[in-house]
Amino acid sequence: MNSIAFQFAPAVMIPAHLIGEVQSKLAYVDERIACAQISPAGEQITLELKHAVSDAEKSQIEEKVQRVVVSMAQGAIRPKVQVLEDYLDRPTPFTADPMPELLRRGEISQEAPGIYALGPLLSRLIDWFESRFLDLAGSFAAQPYRFPTLIPARYLERVGYFRAFPHSLSFATHLPADLDQIDAFAEKAACDEHGNLNVPLQRFAPIQTLLSPAVCYHLYFTLADQTLPPQGVTATAVGNCFRYESLNLQSLERLWNFTMREVIFVGAKEFVLENRERARQRMQGIFEEMGFVYRVESATDPFFIGEFRKQAAFQSAFQLKYEIRARLPFKESTLAVGSYNYHQDFFGRHLNIRLPDGSPAHTGCVAFGLERMAFAFLAQFGFDPSHWPSSMQETFR
Ligand code: ATP
Ligand code: ZN
Repeated sequence: MNSIAFQFAPAVMIPAHLIGEVQSKLAYVDERIACAQISPAGEQITLELKHAVSDAEKSQIEEKVQRVVVSMAQGAIRPKVQVLEDYLDRPTPFTADPMPELLRRGEISQEAPGIYALGPLLSRLIDWFESRFLDLAGSFAAQPYRFPTLIPARYLERVGYFRAFPHSLSFATHLPADLDQIDAFAEKAACDEHGNLNVPLQRFAPIQTLLSPAVCYHLYFTLADQTLPPQGVTATAVGNCFRYESLNLQSLERLWNFTMREVIFVGAKEFVLENRERARQRMQGIFEEMGFVYRVESATDPFFIGEFRKQAAFQSAFQLKYEIRARLPFKESTLAVGSYNYHQDFFGRHLNIRLPDGSPAHTGCVAFGLERMAFAFLAQFGFDPSHWPSSMQETFR
């Protein structure tokens, strides 16, 4: 048996712009990995394992890591990052990590990795941001919707989600309609010391449903096989979203269960692109009034390994995604708190949503992560409301 940490060189050099992206995928390589780090120059990988393993097992794990590296980094071309707004040099009154204070105040209570209950301060902060987002939605006369937390497997299948993001899926099931099985479950079900339920998967009904990874998909499915009105559709909704992020789940920054507010545009290409741009400019005003410290830059979605290179290159070539990256002064880094997305006619084609002229509709959405918004705000402004933006003073006095 060997020691539990080991290092090796990646089969191909990992370029600086891919280090974070590759590292986040290493969390999904093998259950035995407790921590995976790529050195800042991209020339060394360090794995920490949960327990000692044989040399043969080590090489197996290393081989899987190299598959990720080669698939994502070989021949990768650095995308040109387009910066639309840069307010990262605004001053912040706070520089500490908000997590210890949030814990001390009982404002967060971790139920499991990536699953948190939030207390009154965070809830009020989220409500405050929600009213700004609702103002934004109102400025477009967006119609309100409420969508389920569950989403049928066949919906996600139809829009290629299984291929693009298999690693982050969360599945929902139930017991089969069988009295003997339900009785046996009621009698014997218990959790072991790791929190695992002692019931084998084959005792559950086949999976037809997942926990929804995004809000806007539900709207596109309500519009499937329809012709849109000439003015298009503008909608808004808030919802629970689920993305399993494995070892990357940490603090309020990366949750398994989080909440997203979206403003969604469905219509002609110009309608979607112009509204996405208007939404960005209106948010710029709101952020300016707050003194929020952030930047808006082009970005790509965290596609899974095999799909990453092609899909990420496509997304950046057509400027399909811009992220609002808030400064986190305590770690000198940024966190995506929202995004401005354009899907071209992808959903229109796959779901047969038509414009009045019969061509496929285009879609786009503006999406905000509510927990991240509150977290980034506290990381920049701290816990003393007298240091908060004047527009918040009345609510939080
Ligand atoms: P697309 O239209 O490309 O599908 P989307 O509507 O799914 O995009 P994303 O950009 O993927 O939107 O996510 C929107 C926001 O949700 C992010 O900017 C972030 O604030 C928040 N978010 C995403 N993943 C997490 C997570 N694991 N934990 C907390 N917040 C998250
Ligand atoms: Zn969306």
